[in-house]
Amino acid sequence: MAKIAIFGDIHANFDALRVVIQDCSEQGVDECLCTGDVVGYNACPRECLQLIREIGCPVVMGNHDFYVCTESLNLNDFNPHAAMVVRWTRDQLTPDDLDWLRNLPFVRTVKGVALVHSTMDRPENFGYVFDNLQASANFTNQRVPVCFHGHTHCPMIYEKSVDNVYRIDPQDFKLQPGRKYFINVGSVGQPRDGDPRATYVIYDSLAKTITYRRLEYNIERAQERIRAAGLPDRLAERLAVGQ
Ligand code: ZN
Repeated sequence: MAKIAIFGDIHANFDALRVVIQDCSEQGVDECLCTGDVVGYNACPRECLQLIREIGCPVVMGNHDFYVCTESLNLNDFNPHAAMVVRWTRDQLTPDDLDWLRNLPFVRTVKGVALVHSTMDRPENFGYVFDNLQASANFTNQRVPVCFHGHTHCPMIYEKSVDNVYRIDPQDFKLQPGRKYFINVGSVGQPRDGDPRATYVIYDSLAKTITYRRLEYNIERAQERIRAAGLPDRLAERLAVGQ
């Protein structure tokens, strides 16, 4: 079990997810892990959940997963478009799907690596990590050398030495012994770093290497599905520009 694929922020984009799963098999990946947000934004929550459940992929709870499966949540605090997407997504899922989402843990350790949607620093608050200070708070709570996360939809590597935290642009990378890593795997279904291609990471646990994969997928089809479902047009437009 050397090659581990880690992906997340799928956000109900089935066209992007299928391309990623296909690439995992072509790359000889042994195991897939998911950093959460299987649903939200795009038009195929049911299909994405089914595929993720079918491949038996360990998943952690994302904030959109949480919104959708928590019926007691007050959606009046959301902007009207966001509330509408949450309600629409709930209606697409079966009671069994909703139960499955409710049972997702906020953090899990699989094959020696940690998974969290946002940060190990109070993961249930879904804070964003965009800088070294926020990454430091994560490292204080990160017990294992390697942790993967998502949430910002922007791929990034944070490295912790004994007395410093470094931010490293996403790239093919070899992990150094004695250091800790907090690695943002980007987003499968709604990238926001200006590159619209689906993103995920392959971690080779023997060679200790990280490889970012960026994959073209049928964006027009994903956009058509959003429009056909009557979801906000802005959600279709942003896919083309990766914002
Ligand atoms: Zn997300």
